[in-house]
Amino acid sequence: MTLAVSAMISGLTLLAVLAGLGLLALYLWMARKLSHLTRMIDNTPQGLVMFDSALNLVLTNKIYLDLYNMSPDIVKPGVSLRAILEHRTATGTFHEDIDQYIARLRHHLESGEVMSADFDTPDGRTFCVTNKPMKGGGWVASHQDITERRRAERELDRTRNFLNAIVDNIPEVLVVKSAHDGRYIFINRAGEALYGVPRSELIGRRTSDFFPPEQTKIIGGRDQEALRRGRLDLESHLLAVRGSEKIYVDSSRVAINGKDGKPEYLLTVIKDISERRETQLRIAHLAHHDPLTDLPNRAAFNAKLDETIAVAEAAGAKFTLLCMDLDHFKEVNDLFGHAAGDDVLLRIAKRIVDAAGKAFISRLGGDEFMVIVTDGEQPEAARDLAGKLIRALSEEIEYDGRKLRIGLSVGAAVYPDDGADAATLLRNADAALYRTKAEGRGMVRFYEIEMDRMLHDRRELQNDLSGAIARGELALHYQPQARINGTVIGFEALLRWEHPQRGFVPPGKFIPLAEEAGLIAGIGEWVLREACSEAASWRRPLQIAVNLSPFQFRQGDLVTLVCNVLMETGLAPDRLVLEITEGALMNDFSRALSTLRRLKALGVQIAMDDFGTGYSSLSYLQSFPFDKIKIDKTFISNLDRNAQSAAIVRAVMGLGRNLKLLVVAEGVETKEQLEALRREHCDEMQGYLIGYPSPIADYAQIVGRAAARRQNAAISA
Ligand code: C2E
Ligand code: MG
Ligand code: MG
Repeated sequence: MTLAVSAMISGLTLLAVLAGLGLLALYLWMARKLSHLTRMIDNTPQGLVMFDSALNLVLTNKIYLDLYNMSPDIVKPGVSLRAILEHRTATGTFHEDIDQYIARLRHHLESGEVMSADFDTPDGRTFCVTNKPMKGGGWVASHQDITERRRAERELDRTRNFLNAIVDNIPEVLVVKSAHDGRYIFINRAGEALYGVPRSELIGRRTSDFFPPEQTKIIGGRDQEALRRGRLDLESHLLAVRGSEKIYVDSSRVAINGKDGKPEYLLTVIKDISERRETQLRIAHLAHHDPLTDLPNRAAFNAKLDETIAVAEAAGAKFTLLCMDLDHFKEVNDLFGHAAGDDVLLRIAKRIVDAAGKAFISRLGGDEFMVIVTDGEQPEAARDLAGKLIRALSEEIEYDGRKLRIGLSVGAAVYPDDGADAATLLRNADAALYRTKAEGRGMVRFYEIEMDRMLHDRRELQNDLSGAIARGELALHYQPQARINGTVIGFEALLRWEHPQRGFVPPGKFIPLAEEAGLIAGIGEWVLREACSEAASWRRPLQIAVNLSPFQFRQGDLVTLVCNVLMETGLAPDRLVLEITEGALMNDFSRALSTLRRLKALGVQIAMDDFGTGYSSLSYLQSFPFDKIKIDKTFISNLDRNAQSAAIVRAVMGLGRNLKLLVVAEGVETKEQLEALRREHCDEMQGYLIGYPSPIADYAQIVGRAAARRQNAAISA
């Protein structure tokens, strides 16, 4: 028994030892596990903490303490969550109401679900806290400092917003589609406006949802090509937008590859270039059109002429070139100003266009137009058309209550008869136009070989004229001017050119040539000096009238010239009468007016010559104190035949009386005319009846000149 008991005891002891050993092993295993766990916990980058169901700390790691600046003396196993939160409040890493927090936590733990939330600490950091409830109560929590990540996220947000703002505000359209199924993924504001569809409607849909099949096919083709090639740039192509509207765009497509190196997105950038294109077209239009009338300009005309020649040459066809000039347009421009000139030109251009049918019309500038006539039998069709144009322009144009008469002169040259190249055709059409003008305007002349000779002749004459003064070929004739009772009060100096081969060339022929060739200033100066020194030599202080060309008002210093000549010759200024025509006042009215005022200030007299032939503008007479008006001889020659002329003469007399200026009748040839003028109380006269223009020697007795040879019969009569 004792043996059995002792055996049992020793058995039990063994068992107890064995159990003890087992427990020890278990303990050691657990201790190893725990230290392993602690080490593991300590080495995680997050703060880890475990609480039991009584909300007391079971386990934590150092990071948890460090994150919240907590003391290991306080935060150790067994301490309550409340104590920890109070400690954190003290370290400035917790600012919530502790009771409320604990209540909320409990509530969540009861749900048994993992709970994750971000917290901002009073010291400006952000933590992500995840609480994971454990079976049987308690929970494990991880605390992670995500301050940096948050900052980076915010930064990213800011950058994203910034980029979005840019993308939304750039004028170019940005569209992103999925490379896989072609659905819209993104479109910016410019894109919404261009397509007329809000992005909410566009995103997730395809091209075919918005564009007609034909357009969808084109866009799809381009998208595919861009995806295949990586990029596709297209310039200035049409794009249907906002329903049926079509605009011009530049577009670029870029494939954006995913991680696998295959296209994931297709970015399309579209630039609306309609406005730029329109500007370009407008500039191109302006380069080839006259801005006033919108007719093709010189550049367009030259191109068209070359093209027409090429076509006619290939077809063996004829065509006609009409070179046209407006008659009396310059006067309108000068008299009423450029705005009026423009207005009248516009209306004329319209008349030309209306009358010209299919012919090509261009305005080369000023009052010069060109027409290319290809239709119909040439030159008959062109002759008909020219007639039509002349008739269209012969009708008066009303401007500002006045009826303006503007005619058309046309010169024509036929291809290939009058020229097989542009330059010859142009030159010959111009020669024909010159002939038209010389013959009285308002008609058409076709080029003839003869015209070449005329032009040549003209150039030759101009050439001769340039040396005429030096060779002593110019001379002055003097025509008496008298009171209506016949008393001679002065002479008009009239220029004569004695050409060595051609004989006498009339001033009406060579003065325009001199003006054109820029020779008039020199000639005018010679006339003035010659006439003044002649008059200064007379014993009787008679007046001497000298004609001034309008060109003398525009070139050089006329006032200084007159002043110098008066001083050189010693002629009393009040004996000099300067005769000017309306042309002198045109172009630059205020400059001409100032010149006249300064001339008048010298003491010389100013007469308005050829009154009644131009526009006879009353405003001219009112704006400057002329001393005399000379009624043009055309009215005087008709005085005894034509009631209208008599009425005009009477009206001018009335005008003279009102404005207190002397009226001189030009071209008085008969006693009847003189009688009529007397009845109208005309002041002065000039004409063959009183005396012809002659060398001064013929009037030596009247002027009191030593070399008297012959007395003019008319004077003594
Ligand atoms: P104008 O100044 O009106 O001169 C009068 C013109 O009428 C002169 O023509 C004269 O010969 C002509 N004449 C005079 N009495 C009669 C008449 O009873 N019947 C007819 N049918 N004609 C008459 P002319 O000498 O041929 O001169 C023509 C124009 O040439 C002048 O017209 C004037 O505008 C211009 N001219 C003449 N000499 C000069 C000059 O030295 N300088 C400038 N710039 N122009 C001049
Ligand atoms: Mg005169
Ligand atoms: Mg005259």
